[in-house]
Amino acid sequence: MSGLTPPIGRFAPTPSGRMHLGNVFAALVAWLSVRSRGGSLVLRMEDLDTQRTSAENAQILREDLLWLGLDWDLETDPQSRRSAVYDRYFEKLADLGLLYPCYCTRSQLHSVNAPHLSDGTYVYPGTCRNLAPAERAAFHRDPAWRVRVPEGLWQLTDLCQGPYSQDLATECGDFVVRRADGVYVYQLAVTVDDGEAGVTEVVRGTDLLSSAPRQMYLQKLFGFAAPTYGHVPLLMSVDGRRLSKRDKDLDLGILRSRCAPEKLIGILAFAAGLIDTPQSISAKELAKEFSWSHLKKENILLDPATFV
Ligand SMILES: [Zn+2]
Repeated sequence: MSGLTPPIGRFAPTPSGRMHLGNVFAALVAWLSVRSRGGSLVLRMEDLDTQRTSAENAQILREDLLWLGLDWDLETDPQSRRSAVYDRYFEKLADLGLLYPCYCTRSQLHSVNAPHLSDGTYVYPGTCRNLAPAERAAFHRDPAWRVRVPEGLWQLTDLCQGPYSQDLATECGDFVVRRADGVYVYQLAVTVDDGEAGVTEVVRGTDLLSSAPRQMYLQKLFGFAAPTYGHVPLLMSVDGRRLSKRDKDLDLGILRSRCAPEKLIGILAFAAGLIDTPQSISAKELAKEFSWSHLKKENILLDPATFV
């Protein structure tokens, strides 16, 4: 184990550009939740998509987190360097007899039905579940690999969203753990990384709540304890769109030139219900009065003009 003091939270940014406000907000709450209880944080770069990510962006992310006053105790290897580790867990699933190759094309998968879960997942109808060896061989191409899911309900009590349950079999279906090009998917990588780092608390945007049961299933198969989850509301612009990397005026590069970290944190904390009056406040000060019970559950509207 890592030797860190629990609770152990994590930052897991994707170094594909500057953080936007939604990333900042999730990182802030992850930090507040464990620091307010004397816990630790692990930083990990989620750079599975090596085309879109870079070491330069990773370094800017570290500097931006520190500028915000959000520090960490340990940085673990970036995902791009851990494929041999993921191989071992993939083999474990194979040994359990739970993997099978899937030859479906994207258009085949998408023609069946609309995305079911909030993260855009399509329910997999099990097309390739019981192909005979000869049928598999006839495809002459590399398959993706799916893990079989059992019937039954997966339940968790989210720190922010409260009780959540999902029937993996009917709401998700057997899911991909390794793509046809050999790249491991987020579900497998994140489960292995959090599990090996001893993470006890996963805080991230509420768009990922529906992926938690898939990770809980893999945790069970890999022998990791399930962490506590806290899925924080998304930040929306006043016209109802989710703030994203496309909102260049709200990325941290621009915001750092416009306001102090305390001002930025104060605006987020007030909008999220963590403080009662709009005021500048440091992350450290905010940790003294942090409580999950104060945090809003619903998406948070933010007017970009507030930051000017
Ligand atoms: Zn298939």
